Amino acid sequence: MASIIIEAAGLTKSYGEICALKPLDLSVPEGEWLSVMGHSGSGKSTLLNLVGGLDRPTAGTLKVGGEDLLGRDEDGLARFRREFVGIIFQQHHLVPYLTALENVMLAQYFHSLPDEAEARTALERVGLGRRLKNRPGELSGGEQQRVCIARAIINSPRLLLGDEPTGNLDGSSTTMVLELLRELRSQERFTVVMVTHNQEVADWGDRTIHMDDGLLVREERKVF
Ligand code: ADP
Ligand code: MG
Repeated sequence: MASIIIEAAGLTKSYGEICALKPLDLSVPEGEWLSVMGHSGSGKSTLLNLVGGLDRPTAGTLKVGGEDLLGRDEDGLARFRREFVGIIFQQHHLVPYLTALENVMLAQYFHSLPDEAEARTALERVGLGRRLKNRPGELSGGEQQRVCIARAIINSPRLLLGDEPTGNLDGSSTTMVLELLRELRSQERFTVVMVTHNQEVADWGDRTIHMDDGLLVREERKVF
């Protein structure tokens, strides 16, 4: 049986009066592709940010990869994010004046040491071997997201998080990005947690949890 990579119990997040995440229990086996669905404001990003160590819960317990995230100070959380997590957002957050290659090398720099050959290989793996020297403004939306995927996987994360990564893409670019993630996952065996409000995107996952007003209200597992 696969080991558990994410283990949350009573996980809660409040912003003042607003309870963005109501006590949530969640267990994710290593290697799973989990989709998180729900309307805008239902707490999807809040959950993702907690799991990725980008934010801290108000209450509850959270273990990722066997590590208690609540026990970590800011430096410890930053190290966790660097070593453990790759994240892809809806907005690409690429540096506009750097080339695709330089953007990937920047991520390496924050992790350890930039390695141009390795960055080049990562971009080749996402099908951008011929766009290394282009800046984000010269790439399509789908290509920009592929740079983000190269950037997210360059440090071999165990956990790949996506917050509506295909939210700004058309149908064919969406399919291309999801196919790429599926292929990379089959090679590297990372766990995926993907927030989306699109049922077709969610269907790429092994399991979908549905959030409503900060609560996990339903889950469904793909039947093979
Ligand atoms: P989703 O990603 O599902 O759209 P979020 O997790 O971003 O939802 O937000 C859940 C709720 O928490 C919303 O009501 C939102 O306004 C609130 N919220 C999220 N982040 C903050 C914040 N930094 N400060 C205050 N309220 C926030
Ligand atoms: Mg969100």
